[in-house]
Amino acid sequence: MQRRFPRILGLFLLALTTLVAFHALAQSEAGPGVMTVSSFSTINGGADDTKILDGEFDDQFLPVAGAIQLRGGSEYTHWLKLTPNPEAVAGDNGWRLRLERLPLDRLSLYLPRPGQRPESRYLSFYYPNEQDGVLANGFVFELPDPLPASMYLAIDTRIDLSVTPSLLVDRQYHVDERRLASLYGAVYAAIIVLVLGSLALFLALHERAYLHFVGVSASLVVLLAALNGHLFAIPVLKLTAWFGPGGVGGLMILFAALALGFGRYFLRLAEHIPGLARQLRHVEWALLALVALSLFGIDVLHGWLFRIGSLLWPLASLAVAILGFMAWRRGQRGALAFGLIWLGMAIAAGMRIAVMQAWFDSVVPGLVGSQLMLAVAVFLLSIVLADRAMEFRQRHEKAQEITEQSTADLQLEQRRRDLIEGLQEALRGAPPGDLQWIAFRRLLSTLSGLLPNEGIALVAFGYHQLDLLLAEPGDRSDRFKQLLGERGGNIKGICRGRTPMQLRFTESDKVIVEPGQTPPEEQVCGRFAVVPLEIGKPGWGGVIIESEGDTQYSNADLRRVAELSTIAIEITDEAVSQLDLRRRAEIDSLTGAFNRRAGEAMLEALFERAQQGRLPLSALFLDIDHFKRINDEYGHPVGDECLRLVAECLRRQLRGEDVVSRYGGEEFLVLLPGQSQDQARKIAERIREASAALRVKHESGLVKFTVSIGVAARKGDEGAAAELIERADRAMYQAKRNGRNRVQLASTTPSGGDFDPGDLIL
Ligand code: GH3
Ligand code: MG
Ligand code: MG
Repeated sequence: MQRRFPRILGLFLLALTTLVAFHALAQSEAGPGVMTVSSFSTINGGADDTKILDGEFDDQFLPVAGAIQLRGGSEYTHWLKLTPNPEAVAGDNGWRLRLERLPLDRLSLYLPRPGQRPESRYLSFYYPNEQDGVLANGFVFELPDPLPASMYLAIDTRIDLSVTPSLLVDRQYHVDERRLASLYGAVYAAIIVLVLGSLALFLALHERAYLHFVGVSASLVVLLAALNGHLFAIPVLKLTAWFGPGGVGGLMILFAALALGFGRYFLRLAEHIPGLARQLRHVEWALLALVALSLFGIDVLHGWLFRIGSLLWPLASLAVAILGFMAWRRGQRGALAFGLIWLGMAIAAGMRIAVMQAWFDSVVPGLVGSQLMLAVAVFLLSIVLADRAMEFRQRHEKAQEITEQSTADLQLEQRRRDLIEGLQEALRGAPPGDLQWIAFRRLLSTLSGLLPNEGIALVAFGYHQLDLLLAEPGDRSDRFKQLLGERGGNIKGICRGRTPMQLRFTESDKVIVEPGQTPPEEQVCGRFAVVPLEIGKPGWGGVIIESEGDTQYSNADLRRVAELSTIAIEITDEAVSQLDLRRRAEIDSLTGAFNRRAGEAMLEALFERAQQGRLPLSALFLDIDHFKRINDEYGHPVGDECLRLVAECLRRQLRGEDVVSRYGGEEFLVLLPGQSQDQARKIAERIREASAALRVKHESGLVKFTVSIGVAARKGDEGAAAELIERADRAMYQAKRNGRNRVQLASTTPSGGDFDPGDLIL
């Protein structure tokens, strides 16, 4: 409705103005038969003025009815012989001769005086009498009382025009003059106010359509002032009279150019019909060139410029109207109203031209109607522009919204990338138990910069067998712990529900006020947003954000939190499962101990660390005694069970940092970081004893077995881990040789004598 209003109002007012104008046209002001007129034209002074005034050429004067066509050109002088009808003028006195104020150069009235030269008076369109005032209408000659039997009027004009001289009584003249002066004043004032208003709007909104409108309507007001002759009565501006009728023609052409430019811009022709827009622009430049030409006041061009202007003014308006209708067909907003208004403009311009060419019997209603119509059209145009400005504003706001949105998107994208890259980097090579902590710490610092908050926490229960609570800033963690203690159930419920929620907590009854519920009167003691984490069941977790002040987060805000959290969870899950896979590849499936490759890798790492830190490192080489026999006697499954039991026994006897690997078939390598040879020997002894106590069930009874263990400790000068293992291996073989089921310390020389009594443990 709001958008339709200007159109409906526009149509209504346009129809009304047209009616008023045509109604005025239908009224003829001069009664017939008051005066008879005959005319005679001379070229380059072809007839002597004195002889004409003496009536010598009277037989060449041809009678005319209605308007008199005057050929334009400085070479002509048009003579009119005016003969009042004595019967028609008898009742009144105080007569005036009136001609419409058309761009005539000079009117000379010769009134006969008995026995003397006729009295002559002059009037000019371009050089009006100052006492007539700025808003004077028509050329008016006061006539003597009683009226002369006949008088001569000589007219010079540089352009083709039609005049309709009429006789008026004083009373009627004054009424008309006042009515027209106030009407023209109103027309000018209305357009000038719209020009100034639009200029202000342009300065405020920077919408170029307003600037175009200012140009069009300002040029129209100047054009009307020039056509009415008012321009030449204004101080300073009266100097423009020098440009003459060519200048007035130039103004009409200028209006045509500006109208086309306005239409082109308003209807966004360059967007819709670029080819036409380009051509139109050329046309506009050509018209402006003509305008420039009109500034030279060249004598022979006056007639042409005025004629071209008279043609272009209505035609350009009509062209803009047609462009408007075309745009309307395309479905462009406001284009129909725009087209109709310009159709009105075209009609008004055409009417004005028609009046000057005397296509109407009476000129006054035509002039008034056309100017009224133009003023109304300009007014309507300003309404259409307001509609356009509204559209412009909406577009502007939308564009701004999009810019803001894309900036936010860019920032989010940047955060997302930073988080992904940061997490992948941080989780690479992180120890298994630390993955989740590292990931959540990073997520937390990303999220805390995302939204305004008092504090932000991450909780997860049963996430890869871990329970976590992290808070940022760190000193807020107690607050979140308390929150979880008091409202853990609610938070868990939300996290399981997988939908972000914003909650208010009240102090008194310590209930969560769900969104949509009205909070009780009591002081709300906290506002939190809970965003669930995508954690596999039975685990659950979420991000809890404490709002800053009364901040309500938007759904988009919470979605962003959820999105970043999901990324962190996914990357962590991926890292955990990769680590799992890696560990699976390192583990011997039968015994659960590391395989030989992993064992050796760990040996290298531990050896290097021990070497750098000058720390003790011991190795045990364990081999099951007569294992082949066990296999042979009881079968492989029993052998396998033995291997499993030994591995389990080793794990039981060892600490977390010790490493057990299955080195060969029934051989185990045990690494004891930080343990001296003596400590290692004791451990080996414990293992040996425990192994001897192991039993494997078999149908024939319980199977028992023993192990032999070689023990070696890293020597200060030992260069490679392989040397340590070799010594332990040799010590194990020594133990075998010594009768099995025993522990043997390695010799301190890499490949020394086979037997050193000092190494022997009994
Ligand atoms: P010694 O006391 O000298 O060590 O005698 P041994 O029989 O244990 O010595 P040897 O190294 O010759 O025998 C190792 C045997 O271990 C050979 C192989 O059958 C058996 N074995 C190797 N890997 C496995 C396994 O995974 N499962 C079972 N059941 N037996 C295995
Ligand atoms: Mg063996
Ligand atoms: Mg063996």
